[in-house]
Amino acid sequence: MAGDNSERDEVFDVAIIGAGIAGTAIAAELPSSYKILVLEMEDTPGYHTTGRSAAILSPSYGPPVVRDLTQKSLDFFQNPPKEFTESPLLRRRGLLKIATAEQLREINGNQLSNASLPDVEEWDTDKLRDEIPILRDDFQGRAWYEKDCWDIDVDILHQSYLRQLKKKGCRLICDARVEALAPLKNGWKLEINQGSFRAELIINAAGAWAGQIGEHAGATEIGLVPKRRTMVVVSAPERVATKQLPMIVDSQENFYLKPEAGRLFLSPADETPSEPCDSQPEELDVAICIDRIEKVFDLDIRRIENQWAGLRSFVADKNPVCGFDPKVPNFFWMAALGGYGIQIIPELSRLAVRMIDAKDRENTLSAEAFVLQGLSPDRFEV
Ligand SMILES: Cc1cc2nc3c(=O)[nH]c(=O)nc-3n(C[C@H](O)[C@H](O)[C@H](O)COP(=O)(O)OP(=O)(O)OC[C@H]3O[C@@H](n4cnc5c(N)ncnc54)[C@H](O)[C@@H]3O)c2cc1C
Repeated sequence: MAGDNSERDEVFDVAIIGAGIAGTAIAAELPSSYKILVLEMEDTPGYHTTGRSAAILSPSYGPPVVRDLTQKSLDFFQNPPKEFTESPLLRRRGLLKIATAEQLREINGNQLSNASLPDVEEWDTDKLRDEIPILRDDFQGRAWYEKDCWDIDVDILHQSYLRQLKKKGCRLICDARVEALAPLKNGWKLEINQGSFRAELIINAAGAWAGQIGEHAGATEIGLVPKRRTMVVVSAPERVATKQLPMIVDSQENFYLKPEAGRLFLSPADETPSEPCDSQPEELDVAICIDRIEKVFDLDIRRIENQWAGLRSFVADKNPVCGFDPKVPNFFWMAALGGYGIQIIPELSRLAVRMIDAKDRENTLSAEAFVLQGLSPDRFEV
């Protein structure tokens, strides 16, 4: 139990830990009848994983639960409510999966395509050479094109969620690191570096730190592993119109290349386990990235314009973890958003709110059983 001065702490219905995309979206979606506190340890919301993504929405990416959430998020992305934003959130990009002849020999080619998806076109070598002028002349292999893939304007999305939560009177405090949690009779006492608060419900949206927050609360061990991913930015050759290039992904996810306004965003698609931290790119990963890219594309990369790394946090089945903890009361997980947290957030946050808002809990449970079982923290109970 908390110390005796907890009566003097300001009391909230909900305290959300983390102001990345997960924490801000859920705060923005909760009914305005809740008194909500959002605590962010950095001086800027979005400093960690949310501000470091590749900003892509691909309905064919991730396990089935993630694909379902992405599909259900599409309408929001394409037609956001006017009061949310009047700027477009998506821009069509297209996605090309390429497999080298060597990869095709190792694996049955049909397993590499998303043959089950509508609108997947196979491109022959002539079409590939026309559409992808940066492909090396000696490239041998096959490619599949999915037109349904978009660039997401993550900054507008995140800023719009932030605006919404402020408009409804949520209190957002930055430079506020949650250091300890203590259960009270009806909720929690949260100790932060600049004081303490009480809240009936805690929402753990702490990204790479969500496992640590779970430990502070004595909640279920979900086995969260943050994994570093590196991004390298180079300028595109002048002859290449980046606007027309699709996102290009190696069929075994050994690299990807995303065109962006005269530049190319490259990644070795690394997934190196890491402690939660302010992740930085490693020289070796940058070198591996350039080597893999130059083996497939006719690019002579001598100058790097920018580079960064971010942590994508996963549990073993790679589904997000969203729901009430089965072990400790009044503790809600909104974590393990993996490499798809931006593209699933509209639906995931609405689903989370339906779970939290008890009035609608039963309807939500029956209508969304498939997704809810896949997301539930109950799956980690031993
Ligand atoms: C290189 C890269 C490429 C990606 N590409 C895509 C993509 O194309 N499409 C896509 O959909 N997703 C992509 N992702 C994944 C996506 O960015 C994440 O799933 C999403 O941003 C996770 O959001 P979050 O809010 O859970 O985490 P975060 O954005 O990390 O937010 C968590 C917040 O909690 C705060 N916090 C932690 N501990 C405490 C504490 N004790 N007290 C107070 N605050 C705390 C942190 O400071 C942080 O701001 C990519 C990620 C990376 C790294």
